[in-house]
Amino acid sequence: MLEHIPEQYRGLTYPFTRGANPAPGEPHKIAEGVYWVRFAMPMSLDHINLWLLEDAGGWTVVDTCLNIPDARDTWEQLFSGFMQGKPVTRVICTHMHPDHVGLAGWITERFDCDLWMPREEFLMCRAMKADTGREAPEVAIRFYRAAGYDDTQLDRYRQKFGNFGRAIAPLPDSFRRLVDRETITIGDRYWQVIIGSGHSPEHATLYCPALKLLISGDQVLPRITPNVSVFPTEPEGDPLNEWLRSSARLREILPDDLLVLPAHEAPFYGLHVRLNQLIEGHKNDLSSLFDYLEQPRRAIDCFPALFHRKPEGDSLGFATGETLAHLNCLLGRRGITRNTDAQGVHWYQQNPATVDND
Ligand SMILES: [Zn+2]
Ligand SMILES: [Zn+2]
Repeated sequence: MLEHIPEQYRGLTYPFTRGANPAPGEPHKIAEGVYWVRFAMPMSLDHINLWLLEDAGGWTVVDTCLNIPDARDTWEQLFSGFMQGKPVTRVICTHMHPDHVGLAGWITERFDCDLWMPREEFLMCRAMKADTGREAPEVAIRFYRAAGYDDTQLDRYRQKFGNFGRAIAPLPDSFRRLVDRETITIGDRYWQVIIGSGHSPEHATLYCPALKLLISGDQVLPRITPNVSVFPTEPEGDPLNEWLRSSARLREILPDDLLVLPAHEAPFYGLHVRLNQLIEGHKNDLSSLFDYLEQPRRAIDCFPALFHRKPEGDSLGFATGETLAHLNCLLGRRGITRNTDAQGVHWYQQNPATVDND
């Protein structure tokens, strides 16, 4: 295990998965008192990694999976099996997305323990969950019309509106806030909370210097680029700029020789290499997009500059959000301009006043 730490990192190395990934629900020891469990999910991203940490009097769990029967069954087996009937003493959620927070309310209620989470993640999650059962608001329709959606695409958005909250059990009425750079104690180890942003508003990562581990949630992922999107709740947001800054900050604060425990794919070494790859990838995307805007285009016309495959079906929403994140970032830097036509559609184009688009 830890003795396999390589001296140099040419790329990423995956010390645990030279064979296959562990079967869903089967704990895999990462370090003393730290266990990795993969949970299956019924979607194209077909799994999430959760972490069980031995704690005084029981277990701290980090992230929870979706509120679906299969995930609850997997937890039941862990509670009575591997976790030896010891209670969960605290649930930590790295961020507000349903695959991470889905069963937080169910577990905290069952064990009468606290949910630990950054404040913006907790509040935003409760706000978005409250959308379930409502009709899509007019501002959201206007937002996607401005991006270039046709009536069929808008109808599809209306039908899917509120899905976010469907896979999340009701959250507790109070929580314990996780604060940037605070140190929390889990078992006999200190873990430092380091907050990132861009993928979600106030994403927690957990760093244990003694064990040389980083629980990175979705802030840093191997093989997959974390989704960075603009949503109708904050149409003028610039999450890509936040994400780029957070990533540079993580690279500054954290040493390179950590074993990174990501929420998707597998534990890996090569944190700085990965952060550099992700940052460079987005910078390249920004410059291809800038080049593509030699002539005026709508957000949905820009997909060829950013994606290899044409986004269709469920991936349309993600692709639109990601494209808008890149467009808003270029707008913030004054590299491009945005004009609205009589139909309320936004057209983007290179800003002739801008010489340097970096
Ligand atoms: Zn996420
Ligand atoms: Zn996730």
